[in-house]
Amino acid sequence: MADNKREVRVRFAPSPTGDLHVGNIRTALFDWAYARHTGGKLIFRIEDTDRERVTDEYIARAIETLRWLGLDWDEGPEVGGPYGPYLQSQRLEIYTEWAQTFLRNGDAYNCYCSTEELEARREKQRELNQAPGYDGKCRDLSAAEIADFQAQGRLPVIRMRMPDGETRFTDLIRGEVAFEHKYVPDFVLMRADGSPLYTLAVAVDDVLMKVTHVLRGEDLLSSTPRQIRVYQAMQLDPADYPVFAHLPFVMGQDNAKLSKRNGEVSIAWYREQGFLPEAICNYLALLGWSPGDDRENISMQELVELFTVERVNSSPARFDMKKLEAINGDKIRALTIDDFLARALPFLLKDDVISGSDTEIAVVKSALPIIQERIARMNEVTAMLKFLFVEQLSFEPESEAKLGEEPSQHVVQRALDALRDLQNWNHAEIEAKLRAVLLDEMGLKPRLAFGPVRIAVTGSHISPPLFESMELLGKERSLARLQAAVR
Ligand code: GLU
Repeated sequence: MADNKREVRVRFAPSPTGDLHVGNIRTALFDWAYARHTGGKLIFRIEDTDRERVTDEYIARAIETLRWLGLDWDEGPEVGGPYGPYLQSQRLEIYTEWAQTFLRNGDAYNCYCSTEELEARREKQRELNQAPGYDGKCRDLSAAEIADFQAQGRLPVIRMRMPDGETRFTDLIRGEVAFEHKYVPDFVLMRADGSPLYTLAVAVDDVLMKVTHVLRGEDLLSSTPRQIRVYQAMQLDPADYPVFAHLPFVMGQDNAKLSKRNGEVSIAWYREQGFLPEAICNYLALLGWSPGDDRENISMQELVELFTVERVNSSPARFDMKKLEAINGDKIRALTIDDFLARALPFLLKDDVISGSDTEIAVVKSALPIIQERIARMNEVTAMLKFLFVEQLSFEPESEAKLGEEPSQHVVQRALDALRDLQNWNHAEIEAKLRAVLLDEMGLKPRLAFGPVRIAVTGSHISPPLFESMELLGKERSLARLQAAVR
């Protein structure tokens, strides 16, 4: 196994068959943190041998997503490196050559079994309650048998010969792991059309790219003995085998594996919803790993300083949207106003709240401090600030109905009368005036008093603090809205 003298080389190797999701990103983050913690290298490799499912667009989006999250890599797409290319689709000849070498050395063999024959035999195995998998039929074909298959026009797949025995390795998270080979049947390396399978490509690349540590999802654990078999066939010195660390699953709150239903949607979705990259990284960093305390906040720098694989929890982690949201709110509150502004503007522009003029931006900037405490997702800025930019308020039906009822009408009329002569239009004066009239004189509870005013002025029962909102909106527009609300 890897000794301390080797430079640490970690890889992140997704197959972008869609947008990267929570599980992918947690793996990427741990790979990154481990590489940075050890002062090693992070290699980013795209596993795109299945070009029907992995598209250029998904690849471009994967790269963009990692960049957005603040992750960087030392070798891979955009940066190059000494062991490229880093797209598997550009390395097909390498896999073919190795498969041919394995054939020549007797580590692999041509298998002529058809899909139907394999299926029929698998059915038999099921009936007899035998372990499923290839039965070794083509392992030792005679020259005559081969000639016969060839005469039938059959094209062979290349299959790896799995010797008797077992594979053992030490997983940095799971400890000692053993796989008996009777459960690891001979496996396909190359399809009949000459395309490589994942197990071949991943193992060959990890060797050629001198990867020392494979941190990846637990779903790939069972593939490990096959990959180790490929290393053997490549005659890699066992001292140079990568060390494995299989990260436990991320579960949804209902204890099922993450899926669309319970949160595992693409990172692109989180971005659209207004989750900040630093919140996503913070949350995912502590999902199944901790530096040994129960902190909920961690910066990327602290993650790099403190990350060790040994502290990854070996039991599944549970994804908790509420917690992520709380962290996102914390990160929003930690932003400087200029940073908050820079991150809010894209949402306001996309939702057509503003067109981007300097005047509008100045208004947004003055309004941000009053909502910074109140939102958990950046996309909430739209609903919060829209009232400042519309000519005509559009009311939610429920709010509009409430506004038409008593005592709302009465309240709005009294507020209007009281504020008309207010000299200094600032939130403190507005508040003092409205409290005096609506609470003290009318004897209303705050909710009944301020609710209708809020709806009249902002169009909704959810808004930034009322008096500050009215100050921002200005006297003229505030009074006009109160007036318009009186039937
Ligand atoms: N490309 C594989 C996947 O996305 C992961 C490869 C690996 O980490 O070994 O599932």
